[in-house]
Amino acid sequence: MSASTEDKTPRTVGDTPKGGSVLGFYAAKGSPRPPRIARGEGVYLWDEGGHRFLDATAGAVVANIGHGNPRVLAAMQEQAARVTFAYPRFFESEQSIELADRVCALAGEGFDRAFFVSGGSEANESAIKLARQYAVVTGQPKRAKVISRNPSYHGSTLGALAVTGDAHTQSIYGPMVREMPKVSAPLSYRIPDGHTAESHALACADELETTIVREGADTVLAFIMEPIGGLSTGAAVAPAVYFERVRSICDRHGVLLIYDEIMSGAGRTGAFLAAHHWAGARPDFVTLAKGLAAGYTPLGALLVPDRIVDAVAGSGGFVHGHTYFTNPLSCAVANAVLGEVIEQDLVRRARDMGELLMARLREVAARSPIVGDVRGKGLFTAIEIVADKATKRQLPASFNAPARLTEHGLKHGIALYNRRANLGAFGDFQMITPPLTITPAEIDELADLLERSLRGLADEIAAKGLATAA
Ligand code: PLP
Repeated sequence: MSASTEDKTPRTVGDTPKGGSVLGFYAAKGSPRPPRIARGEGVYLWDEGGHRFLDATAGAVVANIGHGNPRVLAAMQEQAARVTFAYPRFFESEQSIELADRVCALAGEGFDRAFFVSGGSEANESAIKLARQYAVVTGQPKRAKVISRNPSYHGSTLGALAVTGDAHTQSIYGPMVREMPKVSAPLSYRIPDGHTAESHALACADELETTIVREGADTVLAFIMEPIGGLSTGAAVAPAVYFERVRSICDRHGVLLIYDEIMSGAGRTGAFLAAHHWAGARPDFVTLAKGLAAGYTPLGALLVPDRIVDAVAGSGGFVHGHTYFTNPLSCAVANAVLGEVIEQDLVRRARDMGELLMARLREVAARSPIVGDVRGKGLFTAIEIVADKATKRQLPASFNAPARLTEHGLKHGIALYNRRANLGAFGDFQMITPPLTITPAEIDELADLLERSLRGLADEIAAKGLATAA
């Protein structure tokens, strides 16, 4: 059955019944309530009314191996029957040791140790704190500033927010977090006049060096960046020279380079780490989450080299921890997920299916009056919605094109996760990041449902006179 919400009484957050009030914390008063989820299988989700949705973004870029994977469910059951919690300061677990070995092997040279937490924000907090403790124990106590990019997203806890480049969240929480320096993330679509993609990206990298020097190199601890941004830059891919230049700047000033691969990692881009696409990238730390346990349990990871851990261990150990760090159930699940990633060759599949998806998205874009750009790598892709393709003019932020597209998508049976209306030159983009298990036939279906949803959005834009408005 295909999805339809027209046959239902419209529900809004304003009339949320008792017992259904969780949503009220997320949505503005009057917004429609989403369908209530009943089950998932493969790339599909069903609501309680039996309506089917193609999960075109793997939720929040999480469900990398699809829903209802029997091997993962069995591993979860087996581990639950053995032990679900044993505090890691007292006990090791076979599952966490196996997972650490596996993840470090997949991440490759330079990654010897893994620290497991409950999600992406915790992984980034752990990265920043480990970097800081390393600086303190190696006689560099002035190093405390973490530079990051604008825009960027590194999580919702206060430490992660301090390095997140997002004007909206800063406008609310800014006064509560320490102000950290920000540098520009390179654009791939609205490249400034007089620049090529390369020269623009190099100018962005050089802004990092200028900022380090201005702040005082001996006060800068780390630079954190998403190698390919998700909800921040909408899958904009920088040229190879950018990654090399950033690395050499960090080397020159003794600044640790942290890659936030919470969305881009675990195979999504067609390499286990997005960093693997560029020989010159070579981050010191990598953080992972989302695809690592693929939505079956909460899990994040920080991967680091021996030299960092040895220095910190030599000073008495990492002064940091969470109750659920190295949780054996989550580690067992992630081992099963990575088993699927390896045995189903999902990293290669992300590359191959990514090419097919990109080709389909380009066809959809060519036929649509409102899709100005198609970008990304592997199955980490996005389309950008514009008012005018020739000029790349954006729709008014107040229209909130991504939220409108989500609405049209739900009517057509496609689930599309995105963010608020655009906050700058990276535009109103829609991530398209299906499970890595997606088949060619499902990609065709995704493209078809997306095209129908875009047609609905284009009609709405035309009816409101937004396409022609100056
Ligand atoms: N970093 C990036 C790049 C993300 O995309 C996200 C989540 O979307 C996070 C960090 C935060 O992860 P979590 O929501 O698991 O705390």
